[in-house]
Amino acid sequence: MKLRHVLLEVYCENNTFDVPLCCANGIDSPGYHCLSENCPNVSYTYAPYELAYTGEFGVVPDSESWVGFGGDMFPDDNNETKEAELKKIWEAICKRKIKEAYEEYMEKMKGII
Ligand SMILES: [Zn+2]
Repeated sequence: MKLRHVLLEVYCENNTFDVPLCCANGIDSPGYHCLSENCPNVSYTYAPYELAYTGEFGVVPDSESWVGFGGDMFPDDNNETKEAELKKIWEAICKRKIKEAYEEYMEKMKGII
């Protein structure tokens, strides 16, 4: 596959006194520009099992625009088999919601154009 979307959690470590040019939106507002410019303040990790909406430039705009598998979604008893089963359920729900979002959008679009 030549094209792939990759979801990352990007952090500003605030390691520098001066604001590097790559920090286009200032310190504590990391983005793809920090990754592409090897920013001295940036660190990142992968964002597994997340469902997210991104705005312009592929950035998730706020905390209401994503949800990840974590916290109270894990089984209480640390059972790995149950966790794997729950992640499969989560995957199926996420894919169905993505399909539903597209279909709902297309339906609303038809009412406008
Ligand atoms: Zn930066």
